Amino acid sequence: MATHLQNYIDGKWLDSSGGETFDDTDPASGELIATVTKSTTADVDRAVEAAHRAFDAWRLVPAPKRGEIMYRAGELMLARKDDLAREMTREMGKVLAEARGDVQEGIDMTYYIAGEGRRQFGDVVPAELPNKWAMSMRHPHGVVAAITPWNFPLAIPTWKIMPALICGNTVVFKPASYTPLLAVRLVEILEEAGLPKGVLNLVLGPGGDLGDHLVTHPGVDLISFTGSSDTGAHISELAGRLLKRVSCELGGKNAIVVMDDASVDLAVDGIVWSAFGTSGQRCTAASRVIADRAVATDLIGKVVGRAKKMRMGHGLEATTDLGPVVSKAAQEKVASYIGVAEREGATVAAGGHIPTTGALAKGFFHEPTVLTDVKPNMRVAQEEIFGPVTAIIESSNIDEAIKILNSTKYGLSCSIYTQNINNAFRFMRDAECGLVYVNAGTIGAEIQLPFGGMKSTGNGHREAGRAALDVYSEWKSIYVDYSGRLQRAQMDVVEKTGMAP
Ligand code: NDP
Repeated sequence: MATHLQNYIDGKWLDSSGGETFDDTDPASGELIATVTKSTTADVDRAVEAAHRAFDAWRLVPAPKRGEIMYRAGELMLARKDDLAREMTREMGKVLAEARGDVQEGIDMTYYIAGEGRRQFGDVVPAELPNKWAMSMRHPHGVVAAITPWNFPLAIPTWKIMPALICGNTVVFKPASYTPLLAVRLVEILEEAGLPKGVLNLVLGPGGDLGDHLVTHPGVDLISFTGSSDTGAHISELAGRLLKRVSCELGGKNAIVVMDDASVDLAVDGIVWSAFGTSGQRCTAASRVIADRAVATDLIGKVVGRAKKMRMGHGLEATTDLGPVVSKAAQEKVASYIGVAEREGATVAAGGHIPTTGALAKGFFHEPTVLTDVKPNMRVAQEEIFGPVTAIIESSNIDEAIKILNSTKYGLSCSIYTQNINNAFRFMRDAECGLVYVNAGTIGAEIQLPFGGMKSTGNGHREAGRAALDVYSEWKSIYVDYSGRLQRAQMDVVEKTGMAP
């Protein structure tokens, strides 16, 4: 039976003031999972006000105590890992093993951030004047709006909510409309872990209607957004005029480079996993392969063979290799790019169709697709398709491969397969990407290192690792003069020490 999902505002589960709902459905079957309250701007106002009220008390809770709440949340996620993963597969389609990975990433992030409750290091540095103390400390922003996509419906919210909370901020969480169930589950867990009322608030509903109101709300101090480049640019523009802090993690057009000396079989494993995992709907998906001509024929034959053998189906079935894409619109977008590829002169070497018979016709499936004869400037090699499609481009040497890699506006993830250490180090240095892998695919980031992209993939911030704390706190530099007299920095130091040359 379908459940009903509500907002969580000031510690209470509530329907929207507008009384309307929308449906949360399984993209593999069309089955109804939940009816969801559809928030209004008045609900956003209530959530921001609650977060604002809670901020003064929460920022004064000692950070180690805040960390203990995070730790308990991590324990609860671990205990519920399998249930959360199953609900995730039903809600957005990724196969169960990958959904478990998504939950595990959320657990990892939560434990990691719990530890930051006892770190959040600042600097204590020598002062240039005698009897003076100089140090820096982190200061929370206030109310954070966390706006998240559907493709990592547990992991990405934890990347934002956990560091925001540990730094002493309060949060209004606006998850993607395709994944409200996982958002509700995460909030339930934090509530059960002991988060005080008002510290985390959840508003469910369409970003287009609520987004501008939330982003421009005078009570919101920082916007942390992960999603498409168009929405990110729109949010940045609105927030920029108001001089609000904004952190954006946006799209990608990630590539795997395969050199002439690579282990082709290893590269094929990495390509299939990186291109078709989560049906190609990872921001780090390998939507391009740059293959050295010396190995291209062998590589293409093997990738095409593997793609043709992949079994589509419901992500909960053990036999399924590839689940659906998230929606009808996503399915149509992928299909439209097959037409674009053909018109541009690329060859559809595997896949290219929407299945129209049997159980697959009920869901938003698209065949895993391999495009060959792709040139670096074609649209399919430049634009984010966000589906199970990868474009193979041939190159002649490491210089050309790196040039092709860097020829898109994005800069999130890339990888190189090679046995040549010089090529590997050249690549590590010259790739214009926030994530670089050697002899592994484009996915597999761990939460203890920064995550994010260069160029149009973002606006210079990073999630995860220590870098996350820099998004959710501001630096405050503090000087304490205990000399008992006026000491003028940069002016008095030489005389006072009596060490003039
Ligand atoms: P969208 O930009 O469509 O949506 C992301 C979030 O923004 C959703 O919660 C959405 O709400 C909300 N939103 C939509 N319009 C507005 C608005 N005007 N103001 C405020 N919020 C708004 O992206 P997708 O959900 O389709 O996510 C896929 C994209 O995310 C891909 O481009 C992918 O590359 C990127 N991504 C980037 C990552 C990174 O770390 N670089 C990681 C994961 C994904 P609603 O759902 O209600 O429309």
